Amino acid sequence: MDTRVVIIGGGVSGLNAARLLSAANIPVALLDARDLLGGRVLTDDGTGSPGEDGYDLGPSWVWPRLQPAIAALIADLGLATFPQSSDGDVIFERMSRESAQRYSGAQREPESMRLAGGSSALVRALTAAVPTGSIRLGCRVVGLALLEDGVRVTYRDESTADRHIDAEFVVAAVPPRLLHASVALSPALEAETTELWRRTPTWMGNQAKFFALYDTPFWRDAGLSGTAQSMVGPMLEMHDATTSSGRPALFGFLGMSPGQRRLMGDDALTAACLAQFERIFGPQAGAPTSTLIKDWAADPLTATDDDEVSSGHPMPAPSWVHGPWSRRLLLAGSEVSPTEAGYLAGAVEASTLAAADLRRRLKARQRP
Ligand SMILES: Cc1cc2nc3c(=O)[nH]c(=O)nc-3n(C[C@H](O)[C@H](O)[C@H](O)COP(=O)(O)OP(=O)(O)OC[C@H]3O[C@@H](n4cnc5c(N)ncnc54)[C@H](O)[C@@H]3O)c2cc1C
Repeated sequence: MDTRVVIIGGGVSGLNAARLLSAANIPVALLDARDLLGGRVLTDDGTGSPGEDGYDLGPSWVWPRLQPAIAALIADLGLATFPQSSDGDVIFERMSRESAQRYSGAQREPESMRLAGGSSALVRALTAAVPTGSIRLGCRVVGLALLEDGVRVTYRDESTADRHIDAEFVVAAVPPRLLHASVALSPALEAETTELWRRTPTWMGNQAKFFALYDTPFWRDAGLSGTAQSMVGPMLEMHDATTSSGRPALFGFLGMSPGQRRLMGDDALTAACLAQFERIFGPQAGAPTSTLIKDWAADPLTATDDDEVSSGHPMPAPSWVHGPWSRRLLLAGSEVSPTEAGYLAGAVEASTLAAADLRRRLKARQRP
């Protein structure tokens, strides 16, 4: 065997599994197809590059009062959080032929918290707890073959030839639907597992976020929170996205389908989003210093075609792998979390459970 455990995926789930197994002196090799760790966690510095103080194009919030495991992890890793800025009035836009209505804002409970520096602060802290030599970027896993005493993992990097790595166990820290769509298993999975993976939506895999960056948080000066809801669109829900260091921004979730977004293209979407921000927050909102857009449905390392037609929260399942593969393959991505499926907290829960299960199995193999 080349290593004891191969972990597929270097998002929060894969990194947390790698951290826990490495701490237990279990050698791991973590492969991620991207050149950047974090997966759906992506903090942009405002110029289209990953940044240490920036705008969260993926997840923005955690809810520590409801999610004790991720709250404990954030505390253990020494990360700072701050509340989502929501002081001030909120705006509702009901119909295109009626102007947007302003209401005095009520404090949201439980409070949504953001990580100082952006959500990728969590990725950086987890990465620091994994031995550097264990992580291989730019390695896309394309096949898994069951061996007598382990698994042969086939992956592709920048070289043309397929590469292999043999391990006793594989932890797949990727959404089940994506795993089914992109990794060939030999022997093939039996029907029950295939169906389960296929029908499990990848949380937020069909979403897109739009950001407008400004010199000043002018909406706050006008007594607005930056929170708005719209039935007109293109954005349905908008929030203040000012960074912990005070770089002002607004963001919104696009309400139209991935197909409609593709048809419109980024330039037309940007113009429509800015026109909406202007309607809602006033003329200054139409003149940002720059804009950012991230369409997760167009990202083949997150979403599949199935996510365009079926989305929503993944449902818990008693077991995610059946048949012969259950001896060697464990799932650890957020979607398989029993209580927080889809969320960052789910990524922490699912990977913690997978790492504990794996430690038990490895211990059992060592017994005479
Ligand atoms: C727009 C958006 C907003 C969100 N908002 C929130 C929020 O506010 N709060 C919250 O709690 N959660 C939110 N989420 C969900 C949160 O991002 C996820 O729960 C979490 O990041 C999932 O982590 P993961 O490691 O399980 O999966 P991922 O982050 O998807 O990581 C999977 C990794 O596997 C890699 N990979 C895929 N296929 C292969 C392959 N074949 N070979 C090798 N590597 C592969 C990918 O490159 C990726 O790095 C949001 C998500 C999105 C997209």
